[in-house]
Amino acid sequence: MEQIKVLLANIDKPDSTSIDTYMAGGGYEDARKALTTMKPDEVTQLVKDSELRGRGGAGFPTGNKWSFVPKNAPKPTWLLCNADESEPGTFKDRLIIEKDPHLLIEGMIIAAFAIGSNPMSYIYIRGEFYYGATVLDKALDEARAKGFLGKNIFGSGFDFDITVHRGAGAYICGEETGLIESVEGHRGQPRVKPPFPAVIGVFGGPTVVQNVETLACVPLIVRNGAEWFKSFGTPKNTGPKLYCVSGNVKKPGVYEFPMGITIKELIYDHCGGITGDRKLKAVIPGGASAPMLTPDEIDIPLNFDALMKAGSMLGSAGIIVLDESVCIVDAVWRLAKFFAHESCGQCTPCREGTNWLESVLDRIERGEGRPQDADLLLDMSENIGGKSLCALGDAAIGPVISSVRKFRDEYLHHVEHKSCLPGTTRYRRLDMPVAAH
Ligand code: SF4
Repeated sequence: MEQIKVLLANIDKPDSTSIDTYMAGGGYEDARKALTTMKPDEVTQLVKDSELRGRGGAGFPTGNKWSFVPKNAPKPTWLLCNADESEPGTFKDRLIIEKDPHLLIEGMIIAAFAIGSNPMSYIYIRGEFYYGATVLDKALDEARAKGFLGKNIFGSGFDFDITVHRGAGAYICGEETGLIESVEGHRGQPRVKPPFPAVIGVFGGPTVVQNVETLACVPLIVRNGAEWFKSFGTPKNTGPKLYCVSGNVKKPGVYEFPMGITIKELIYDHCGGITGDRKLKAVIPGGASAPMLTPDEIDIPLNFDALMKAGSMLGSAGIIVLDESVCIVDAVWRLAKFFAHESCGQCTPCREGTNWLESVLDRIERGEGRPQDADLLLDMSENIGGKSLCALGDAAIGPVISSVRKFRDEYLHHVEHKSCLPGTTRYRRLDMPVAAH
């Protein structure tokens, strides 16, 4: 499959972030077309017809999400852009923000028009993306100066503006209700659903939270139509897609393909294969929370449905490649430590369970594991998954369960020999202090 440049068409242009560069390529004409020649419901129907699915992780159909917003709600409707991108291994939204911010802004104008958003909106960007926030602020000023944001945009009678809201760097603020709480100025702790944000979201109004890449697809759909968008990928898994590849590959980076390139093709034909020409051990295909796949499982399309069928998920399309030199227990410990650190602490199975997972993985790695620890990890995972308030609980157990099931021998070797499997490398120093629990 050939690499494409659709979502990333502008990023290599000189001065790609300026509004003049963007407009020279037809930029903001799609927003003009939507606001002046279409009704909001027609825009929503167009996005529905394109079968665009959210690129943030859940893969929910975007047009359907927009159509859930009630008409004539007692409180204003909001569009929030989720630019938190905190899933380890994921760095695609950052590229759009830093290299082509006007594509995102134009997508937001069209989406806001479709759902009847309140005149104000937020781009919620993680605190660490300081540079991206400055790029967005400059781009928003340029758009305002041209009259593309503000009152009566394109003479359509539609008023809309955007503010960049910087988070403080919490993973859980990428969860839509955690994000909403944070925008309201509260601690970023997810809400119990229902009610869903489309009915009661930020400041009590109906709210659509949409990922950067998803919004960036919208102007392209308005410009080229739903059939064009569907010509990329397969039914129900449509459109151009950004894949972030990291770990043990020769050429890591962000790649764009029609949705559905296989993992094998991506790694070996486009990323140059495995570093040092070593053997592949495992692939985490959808950000840190996706269950691992083994080398005999990678000849499958990188799309929502194929990966779900394979027992994993596309998630944020952050593909982390682990070669034969990686100690799987060490790698999983690191992920477990991340999730334990990022648990917001609101519900017991996640707050306690993620820390216990980390503790047990730590003792196995230190050579203090017990023969029953592999099963203990599975048992603990089953008591977190599906029993936690938000998706972080399920995210935390994905790598643990899949690694124990697929690399049990490596766990048992640690217990029996009190060391990593020969030929594998532990990346952390065991003389570092143990986390207190
Ligand atoms: Fe917080 Fe974890 Fe519960 Fe989510 S699952 S609400 S992150 S404690």
